[in-house]
Amino acid sequence: MLDATHDPARRSWVESANGHSDFPIQNLPLGLFTPPGGHAPRAGVAIGDAILELEDAPPDGTLNAWLAAGEAPRRALRERLSAELTIGASTRARLHPAADCRMHVPARIGDYTDFYVGIHHATAVGKLFRPDNPLLPNYKHVPIGYHGRASSIIPSGTDFRRPRGQMARNGGPVFGPCEKLDYELELGIWIGPGNEQGAPIPLAEAARHIAGFCLLNDWSARDIQAWEYQPLGPFLGKSFATSISPWIITPEALVPFRIAAPPRPEGDPAPLPYLTDATDQAEGGFDIALEAWLVTPGLTAQGLPPHRIADSNARHMYWTVAQMVAHHSSNGCNLNPGDLFGSGTISGPERDGYASLLEATQGGTQPLRLASGEERRFLEDGDEVILRAQARREGFVTIGFGECRGRVIG
Ligand code: CA
Repeated sequence: MLDATHDPARRSWVESANGHSDFPIQNLPLGLFTPPGGHAPRAGVAIGDAILELEDAPPDGTLNAWLAAGEAPRRALRERLSAELTIGASTRARLHPAADCRMHVPARIGDYTDFYVGIHHATAVGKLFRPDNPLLPNYKHVPIGYHGRASSIIPSGTDFRRPRGQMARNGGPVFGPCEKLDYELELGIWIGPGNEQGAPIPLAEAARHIAGFCLLNDWSARDIQAWEYQPLGPFLGKSFATSISPWIITPEALVPFRIAAPPRPEGDPAPLPYLTDATDQAEGGFDIALEAWLVTPGLTAQGLPPHRIADSNARHMYWTVAQMVAHHSSNGCNLNPGDLFGSGTISGPERDGYASLLEATQGGTQPLRLASGEERRFLEDGDEVILRAQARREGFVTIGFGECRGRVIG
């Protein structure tokens, strides 16, 4: 539902919010931050290049209670913040320069589940292994996912160590540093109120349980993954680190950028009734531009800009976020406030949209060539990947997600 908070004419007294910022007054994402010299994390809203500290301290140092509260309080806070930040409002704000603050993972994440709804990714990866039959037969019937690891989720800007693990080399198992480290460009979905165990969330009610969105980089050790994944799926090839952008972009902020779920190609099966809802098909998709950029030691040393490695869009999701929620809870599994979903890698259909190096380099056989003279098949020590997202629509102010950065160190 569109309201005055989406009005493109609305401007903020925080001047930096009125230019080309990811965080204009129409966005208003919440996050957890520590200002310089601060100790306990505080709740704040991003506005331009600043953070407005909220008056109420988060009760347990996290935003879980806010996620649990659901749509009505979230909408009320948005309206209040929009009014307070509008030009002409008289407020004595506690404003902090964002560049001086440290951002945190905004909630205590009880469970993290990674889906696989990017059909172009699933097809491209499938082709590497099964050229004639890239998609497995269940793909178009069931939103595929696996249970990820919550403890190793880190906020943007946090370095992580190259994983070591067991992999097959020259036919035999070895243990050592991963040599095929990859990234995956994904949307993250924050779960709101959730459900009691044994009481599935019907698809028509699923939207009420989605409290926000972020960017998510599902770092992947392809060599460890390839050796371990059969028959139970990803394990140590994924669980060493997952990076997220720290700001929770609300469903309300994204209202102008909702689109119909992409139509299923002719001949695709209709989903089962519990995954079918006319409203969700009509407005369950998102038009959000998604990009990944690579920064290498060579580019940095030569003063060269980051190299864009993926240009995609959230519209390339085969299943909607509501279908993910309905499916995840359909067996009676309880979802809790602060649970996090990953969408799965969202690749576009063409080469420039391939949102992992596995796809972009065809399994490492076709290296990327960078302006620095470097080549990349997979990530090397010192490489940093930056994910960005922007939602744009004629007649509305563009909003962004902020960055999701992560750098691998040896
Ligand atoms: Ca993934």
